[in-house]
Amino acid sequence: MADKTVKQLAQMTQTTVDTIKKQLVDAGLNARGDNDIVTEIEQQQLVGFLKQSHGEVQKSRISLKSKTTQTAKVTGTSGKAKNINVEVRKKKVFEKPNANKIAEELAQREQALKQEQEKAELAKQQADKQQDEKQKARQEAEARQQATLAAMYANLNSGKKHSDGNTTSVVVKKITKPDAKTTNTEIAPTKTAKTQTVKADNKTAKADKKAPTKAVKPVKKENSEQRKIREAEEERLRQIEAQNRRKSAEEAQQRTLEKMRQMASKYSDDKDGESTTVVRRDAGEPLAEGLVGQALEDSFEKERREIKRGSTSNANKNRRRRRDDDNEQEVKNRARGLKSSHANKHKFEKPVEKIVHNVEIGETIVIADLAQKMAVKAREVVKMLMKMGELVRETESIDQETAALLVEEMGHHPVLVSSTQVEDSLRESVGEKSSNVQARPPVVTIMGHVDHGKTSLLDKIRSTKVASGEAGGITQHIGAYHVETEQGVITFLDTPGHAAFTAMRSRGAKATDIVVLVVAADDGMMPQTAEAIDHARAAGTPIIVAINKIDKDTADPDRVLNDLTTKEVVPEEWGGDTPIVKVSALTGQGIDDLLDVIHLQAQVMELEVATDGAAQGVVIESRLEKGRGAVTSLLVKQGTLKQGDLVLAGEYYGRVRAMMNENGKKITAAGPSIPVEILGLPDTPMAGSEFMVVDDEKRAREVAEYRMVRERERVLERQAKSRLENLFDQMNDAKLPTVNLILKTDVRGSLEALLSALDELSTDEVKVKVISSGVGPISESDVVLAESSEAVLLGFNVRADGAARRKADEAGLDIRYYSVIYGLIDDVKAAMSGLLSPEHREKILGIAEVREVFHSSRFGYAAGCMVLEGTIIRNKPIRVLRDDKVIFTGQLQSLRRFKDDVTEVRAGMECGLAVKGYEVQAGDKIEVFEIHEVKRTL
Ligand code: GDP
Repeated sequence: MADKTVKQLAQMTQTTVDTIKKQLVDAGLNARGDNDIVTEIEQQQLVGFLKQSHGEVQKSRISLKSKTTQTAKVTGTSGKAKNINVEVRKKKVFEKPNANKIAEELAQREQALKQEQEKAELAKQQADKQQDEKQKARQEAEARQQATLAAMYANLNSGKKHSDGNTTSVVVKKITKPDAKTTNTEIAPTKTAKTQTVKADNKTAKADKKAPTKAVKPVKKENSEQRKIREAEEERLRQIEAQNRRKSAEEAQQRTLEKMRQMASKYSDDKDGESTTVVRRDAGEPLAEGLVGQALEDSFEKERREIKRGSTSNANKNRRRRRDDDNEQEVKNRARGLKSSHANKHKFEKPVEKIVHNVEIGETIVIADLAQKMAVKAREVVKMLMKMGELVRETESIDQETAALLVEEMGHHPVLVSSTQVEDSLRESVGEKSSNVQARPPVVTIMGHVDHGKTSLLDKIRSTKVASGEAGGITQHIGAYHVETEQGVITFLDTPGHAAFTAMRSRGAKATDIVVLVVAADDGMMPQTAEAIDHARAAGTPIIVAINKIDKDTADPDRVLNDLTTKEVVPEEWGGDTPIVKVSALTGQGIDDLLDVIHLQAQVMELEVATDGAAQGVVIESRLEKGRGAVTSLLVKQGTLKQGDLVLAGEYYGRVRAMMNENGKKITAAGPSIPVEILGLPDTPMAGSEFMVVDDEKRAREVAEYRMVRERERVLERQAKSRLENLFDQMNDAKLPTVNLILKTDVRGSLEALLSALDELSTDEVKVKVISSGVGPISESDVVLAESSEAVLLGFNVRADGAARRKADEAGLDIRYYSVIYGLIDDVKAAMSGLLSPEHREKILGIAEVREVFHSSRFGYAAGCMVLEGTIIRNKPIRVLRDDKVIFTGQLQSLRRFKDDVTEVRAGMECGLAVKGYEVQAGDKIEVFEIHEVKRTL
């Protein structure tokens, strides 16, 4: 609020000049003209008056009160502790400055100032007066001295000799001196003048005596004058220096400001003009303009400190320069999102921006691979998934959808690709070259129970249909052969068992077109017959039933037909869709009929493929042979395979160096449905893998590598899917609205009970499908079927045999054992509703086989055992298994090694044991297990 004219005040308050004038008068101030000044104080007075007149009561005083209570514990005289509350009250009064009061104070101060000025004036006048008086006195004294001198000279001139000449000369000297003194009296201090006056009034001698002391003073006066001049000069220099310093400081400020501006503009340029929240800091904080602002402030603060210090020494300048550099670096670092200024100490500079990767995601992806594609640690991905509510390990895989979400969450671009994209494009380019489409021969697999005559039937067909010369020349077993009939060629796959059939299917390739199920007419439906039906059904392959051994007297084909209906295989003659042929592998009866039916079925299936162009097909089997390397049997399914072709089979690729047919005869080309054996692959691909001829080695390598990764993913995926806990998640997946189970039990009674109970579990939304069931231990074949059908293996009072266990471990399948029907039903039910958690599961710790049973006086009997697997632990529960079926559950009564009681015996060692309350037999297995709680894992 500076001094203003009335006009200015009127403008400022947006009122008229007259109003202001009137208000001034009302406030008790002097009347003014339009351009008269209203001082700051007057303005405050006016404001105070107006506030009062408008009824605004100003609160000039504020009181703040505070109260704190503390509790002190004091021990009283009686020894009892007492709590005393101590209340501390504080009051603070703040007085608000009042405009009138200020005005009053100011007026008072003004008054005091005036008085002081007057006093000073008076004092000055007095001093001047005294000065004049002194001057006068001095002049009088001089006049008197002159008079004395004149008298003395007069005496001398008159010849009157003085007694002491020396004294006279001294006097002369002393007389001349005061002249010089007189010239300086004006600038001499008042005190000196006073003294001189007094001295001048004294006797001349006395004045003379004092003279030598006074004579030194003029020199001193000169020095002080010089000092004053020097000081003035120094002051002037200091001012110039300060001015220069200020100027350089301002320049430095300007420079820093300019740098900031440049940086800010560069920064925003980098981000297409976005100036806020563009770069993320490590902690994910956005770096906004505020940060640059902060940097500016920091910089200015430093400058200010520098100015305050006012140091201009070189050392300081250098230091400042260094600091400037540091500061600049710091600002740069901040702008980059670095947390620490120490970052500039390293040569490595963290990238300014996060690199956004295009992450290709197939139908599933392993966490570790996903992390690699995003260039982050797998741990981070796991952590992120945990935040998203998924608990997955690094080695496990997640589905495409989840992966895409995660990738987006982590700031990268997900690129969804079909798992088979690489192969599809290759297949397309291969397929384009084919043009001649023709019907191809059907590929048949013969399945059935052991000893029902599979081999005999195959041999009979071959011996009757293969030219005698060739038949005799069969030297190679390549797993397949073809026969020529009147209606055309039929290719037979000579697979060693159902497991192999399904294993081939699980590799993705459908090698078999038709299944011929051999059932001995004298034996009927047997477990492996049922298993074969399950496998064929799971593969979706049509079945032709060949009732063999029809030549036998005990043959009862109707019984076979009856049995088949129990597995829902209904003969055509009974209104079903399964062709039935009665044959005899021994006599050859019905063989032609069987071949006719196969042809008929093939025609219905319209098996048409391109017969020329690049070949595609299936690996039937492969082996390593000394001197020949990898020998691979292939079944061409379309196109023509030629010697010299570049073949990509499964995860390997190579050129066909040599090619043989099933008779070991060298051939140079093989058309559709023709099995061949080739040399040239670097390793043995898995049976059932697809093969194709490619012309580009680079692409072959790409696909081979891709397949290797996919195979790994498949195993991991299967591991997850085979878990009963995960069934619910699978069901949520629209592709799998059913729960696939493979159930094995100890007796038929419990199997039927379980099947009907499981059947009742099916609802409109979820279907429980028992793909395969049976009595007996879980076999390798069951495991393979579970693997290919994504089914869960359940054993009720039965165990998996050694081969099945190994297979299950290999495939990462989970086998669940139960001994209570409701336990099994409840688990499946819980799995269906996604509520399987936490649960009690059995872990088998060790298995021992009973080799011999001895009589023991103490326990009644004792079993001499060999520990086959794991460890037999004395205090854990046990089960007795006979033919892989549970026959007793209990505890051990004793466990010994060489007459010593022991707590555990490891695999490969012999031991003696006794089971409490049960007499074991030689050949029984003792299984030690423990029950532990498993939390549900996703
Ligand atoms: P696979 O185990 O299913 O391959 O059965 P095999 O082909 O080894 O045959 C088992 C046994 O049944 C052999 O001793 C054959 O001689 C016999 N056999 C096979 N087919 C017939 C047939 O049609 N009639 C008679 N009587 N015996 C047969």
